[in-house]
Amino acid sequence: LNGYVGFANLPNQVFRKSVKRGFEFTLMVVGATGLGKSTLINSLFLSSIYEDGKYPAAGTPNKTVKVQNSTVYLVEGGVSLKLTLVDTPGFGDAINNTKCWKPILEYIDSKYEEYLNAEGHVNRSTVVDNRVHCCLYFISPGHGLKPLDIEFMKQLHEKVNIVPVIGKADTLTPEECAEFKANVMKEIENNDIKIYQFPVDEFDEEEEAQDLQAQLPFAVVGSNTMLDINGKKLRGRMYPWGIAEVENPDHCDFIFLRNLLIRTHMQDLKDVTNNVLYENFRCNKLAAVTS
Ligand code: GDP
Ligand code: MG
Repeated sequence: LNGYVGFANLPNQVFRKSVKRGFEFTLMVVGATGLGKSTLINSLFLSSIYEDGKYPAAGTPNKTVKVQNSTVYLVEGGVSLKLTLVDTPGFGDAINNTKCWKPILEYIDSKYEEYLNAEGHVNRSTVVDNRVHCCLYFISPGHGLKPLDIEFMKQLHEKVNIVPVIGKADTLTPEECAEFKANVMKEIENNDIKIYQFPVDEFDEEEEAQDLQAQLPFAVVGSNTMLDINGKKLRGRMYPWGIAEVENPDHCDFIFLRNLLIRTHMQDLKDVTNNVLYENFRCNKLAAVTS
């Protein structure tokens, strides 16, 4: 159960071909320093792959100082998934945050570039896809977006699917969290920030997509600590007043987010990346060459 993610149960929209070949999916985390990005990546996928205790970086992750990726290979029910997790250095430490998005944009572009070159050389169906398919944008729990958040997301939104999340959501009460979510979404709308839109297709009810959209930004809690509560092992954060359980849907949206990324919406995130975001990159590139 520990390593079970659930992608073998991907819904039927998924093409047979990709099931046979396996999936490649890249997830990036971005946001200010100290919001729990590295911890969440570990909680989401990495540490669940190692058996308890053997996970090499259990405890507090080191401060992330450069864009770095790690790849995990998962196999479930005969389906394989190559999952690349891209961790990025936080911003906001420096007094001058001008262009703090630059290394992140460069990383995204370099993967598009690689893909474009490979496409030109070999059989399309064998091209390795290392493009970034989803970017979790971490928002600090508080009152709303900071000017830097707005600028940063605008720098990214034409390049990558942005899914906004509230980091360290255990520091908010449920009421604060609901109010904060509403404020953030209002600001995202008012500032014309384009975030990932949940697809509405003929099989889905429109309400379903709206329900998902209404839960944004997802409130997440990360922890690399396995707690032993009356013999039951769970990932969580212990406080004098109780425990914030990472995998309890009443406590945060972690499981919900993981299902969305790996089970229900992986193919759509890949499709939007390929058909809209990459296509946009490719056209700009061609226009630059021919002009
Ligand atoms: P990053 O800079 O965004 O990568 O943040 P880290 O993952 O390095 O975490 C920074 C600190 O916050 C560490 O001490 C973590 O233990 C702590 N932390 C991580 N996730 C959470 C969370 O969900 N809630 C709380 N309260 N603390 C967290
Ligand atoms: Mg980090």
